[in-house]
Amino acid sequence: MNLGISGRWAIVCAASQGLGKGCAEALANEGVNLVINARTADTLEHTATELRTRFPAVEVRTVVGDVSQEPVQAALLAAAPQVDILVNNAGGPPPGDFRDWDRNDWLKALDANMLTPIALMKAVVDGMAERGFGRVVNITSGAVKAPIDILGLSNGARSGLTGFVAGVARQQRLAGNNVTVNNLLPGAFDTARLQKNLQIVSQTQGSLESVTQARRQSIPAARFGTPEEFGAYCAFLCSHYGGYITGQNLLIDGGAYPGTF
Ligand code: NAP
Repeated sequence: MNLGISGRWAIVCAASQGLGKGCAEALANEGVNLVINARTADTLEHTATELRTRFPAVEVRTVVGDVSQEPVQAALLAAAPQVDILVNNAGGPPPGDFRDWDRNDWLKALDANMLTPIALMKAVVDGMAERGFGRVVNITSGAVKAPIDILGLSNGARSGLTGFVAGVARQQRLAGNNVTVNNLLPGAFDTARLQKNLQIVSQTQGSLESVTQARRQSIPAARFGTPEEFGAYCAFLCSHYGGYITGQNLLIDGGAYPGTF
């Protein structure tokens, strides 16, 4: 299926590995030019080189830095001739006990997982509406629907973003001009972030192998998702055909969420 977005420009934040990279790959596979970002220059350049080699028709630009910093956001916006697609992503906040977190911990989580996506959306959505095409995908978490107690910073910050998106996505100025805003909610995906979380759990609950196996078996699909699967869903939402999907929180979790709706 040709998704009808070849030649468009996308900013994909936090994209040197994991889910962000999966989105960048799937968009590049559709002929979308990319501005990708991460804090570590080496890994980011390595990913950019890989993408350029695999998808020679696509232009790939890089912006190194913490996406929650305003100068980095400005550099990302300046690097694309125009922004047709925005994939918001950042590392998730650390796990822990809320009794140990102070105001600064909360501000960091809010900055990375709520205020940064809002700032980038603010910068691009009106231009998208004027041009009659725009797609925003925010990578959030299944924890928005089924909170995980040790991920309180994530539960809180991402719920704030989710509430904001529910309102803004339904503005006729956006939805009526073919600009969609959706949240993609990953369950357990096989990335460095998941491996790190499993290692933390294994410090108190058994070997890494047994903790990993138990986590897999807690999922109806009996496996972790892949960044490739995640990226394909993202690319579809960003496609020509995604224009009637907006304001949604879309789980991709192998059936892990136990509710009917
Ligand atoms: P990952 O494999 O650890 O990759 C994170 C990527 O983001 C890396 O490229 C990292 O590169 C970059 N990054 C992190 N913080 C950044 C920042 N402040 N500014 C710019 N780039 C940044 O993580 P992932 O599993 O893909 O997770 C992506 C998001 O999905 C996270 O918010 C995570 O909490 C959420 N999530 C993941 C899962 C899962 O199972 N994997 C489940 C639910 C939610 P640098 O370190 O070089 O910056």
